[in-house]
Amino acid sequence: MDLFFLDYRDPLVGLIFITILIFIIALLNYFWRFFAYKDEEEKLEKFIKKFELNNVHKDLLKDPNLSLANLIFLASIFTRSGEFEKAIQIYLIALEKVKDKKEQEDIFISLAEVYFKAGFLERSKEVLLNALKIRPRNEKALKLLKIVYLRLRSYKEVLDTLECLLELDEEVKEEKEFIKALMIKEQDIDQKSKIELILNLDIKDNIMLQRLIFENYQIIKDQNLFDIIDLIYRDKKIVKIDKQEYKEFFYALNLLPKEEKIFLKNQNFRMFKILNDNDFKVKIVFSYVCLECKNAMPLFFYHCPICYGFNKCKILYEVKLDETN
Ligand SMILES: [Zn+2]
Repeated sequence: MDLFFLDYRDPLVGLIFITILIFIIALLNYFWRFFAYKDEEEKLEKFIKKFELNNVHKDLLKDPNLSLANLIFLASIFTRSGEFEKAIQIYLIALEKVKDKKEQEDIFISLAEVYFKAGFLERSKEVLLNALKIRPRNEKALKLLKIVYLRLRSYKEVLDTLECLLELDEEVKEEKEFIKALMIKEQDIDQKSKIELILNLDIKDNIMLQRLIFENYQIIKDQNLFDIIDLIYRDKKIVKIDKQEYKEFFYALNLLPKEEKIFLKNQNFRMFKILNDNDFKVKIVFSYVCLECKNAMPLFFYHCPICYGFNKCKILYEVKLDETN
């Protein structure tokens, strides 16, 4: 026993012991990493197989001489030209080739975008969740996931995603109230209760929520005329008559009693009224521009269909001669 303690205290034996220990730990770590990587690779392979489509060009694209950068470039061209099936195929092949986590994350997002554009929402969601497994604070993935959930009408998940974006210092307060209103709108309760619940939300200064309330329930609160002018023009029903801008607009549209005379400060309204009163057929034409990505759309949007931004829609209008019939 004494001999053992004597040996144990020997510094040389201690050094050997520590060296062996380090060697064992390094060996275990190597095997762990090897199997973990293998496991990850298998998971990715399974993922790719699940989505893979048949394509005659597959072998050609799998050619090791075709670089990852070129594959991604090809896929982006197909996405832009609307050939989504081809783009998806190429991104899946790119995923097989990629080793770097950052590159894998970028391909996941591009692939999710194509699935989203092609209308495969569930697949888009699954790919985005994979991207978020790599980096949960991926703002781009979270923003797209929010829109995917919105299209799937999974409002609870939209709110969860907004919470994640809030942690990344995104301004989401108004959008959260808007989503809550959508949730209430879908509930299986009577109209009166829905309106009551929605009006209990924080609607002050929330332009999109105020528009939603007018669009669905024709309720006027503090809406600025120019945030709902297209809806007012479509309905041609008098509302909010105590506000001067609304009064002017209804006067221009000849919806007020004939004896009422109002000076029209707005030049477009004045032009509309003069032409209309002189038997010209006129109409107001609306267009919608995203303040974020500057794209123009034919219809109003609460979330931009291109950059997915919320409350970025600017309503433009112009008076035109109506040349139909
Ligand atoms: Zn946009």
